[in-house]
Amino acid sequence: MRGRMAGAVVLMLAAGTAAGAGSADPWADIRVPASGRPEAIGSPAAGCLAGAVALPPDGDGYQAIRLERNRFYGHPDTIAFIRRLGRKAKGAGLGILLIGDMAQPRGGPMSFGHGSHQTGLDVDIWFRMAQRPLTAAERAEPQPVSMVAGRHVDPSRWSGAQVRLLRLAAETPEVDRIFVNPAIKAELCGSVTGDRAWLRKIRPWWGHDEHFHVRLACPKDDPACAAQAPVPEGDGCGAELAWWSVRGMVPGPSDRPDHRHPRLPAACAGILKQAAAAARSP
Ligand SMILES: [Zn+2]
Repeated sequence: MRGRMAGAVVLMLAAGTAAGAGSADPWADIRVPASGRPEAIGSPAAGCLAGAVALPPDGDGYQAIRLERNRFYGHPDTIAFIRRLGRKAKGAGLGILLIGDMAQPRGGPMSFGHGSHQTGLDVDIWFRMAQRPLTAAERAEPQPVSMVAGRHVDPSRWSGAQVRLLRLAAETPEVDRIFVNPAIKAELCGSVTGDRAWLRKIRPWWGHDEHFHVRLACPKDDPACAAQAPVPEGDGCGAELAWWSVRGMVPGPSDRPDHRHPRLPAACAGILKQAAAAARSP
């Protein structure tokens, strides 16, 4: 927490009452961004987003997938990051990046699939890269490809292309951290030679075997954005990875907090109300 978020009054937005429409998922029902200057408000697992921008569905070196989910919105910094990464991946001959979930038009909690992705600074990018543009049907229901078999990467799928892509993303200054399956982190720890500084941002987490999750740092001049604790020093290949090696590969009950109804910053109530007003206007 920092800036005016520190000590800010938080407000529980009870599902079904906040939108005034009786919706169980008021944030998911919003179809258009909130106006105003771009602002990531709160934290990735308890926040919202003003002034969001839609990622163009087709760009240089990338394609957005599952467009019907309406989760292709983000802070302008996130849009710029994806477009740059697409160009770099294309320049490196890696194929077409498949861009998965980002945020809803005004961020906020999602009805399924993610605890975070609430402030427009998170994006899921598939490890599998397309060698030709996906068709409309393929991008609506793309086939996930896991890079992991058991506790190790699957050598029939994992290759240097994924390592190069992760490094391109991790070496982007505005990227705060990147979540990957622990087996992928272990593989990187054991195989990357030379400059290993970028491994620091690669963080092991459950899942993330067919996509990696990029989280951007709080934008400058965004005092309502709650920064996470800094990533620890070092490459993360020692004690932290050892801790993961004794964890189960799926989260247990105590590892699953309720992300559906987080306590959101008070400012998010205004962001949500603005949506209801917009929906009512002719
Ligand atoms: Zn994600």
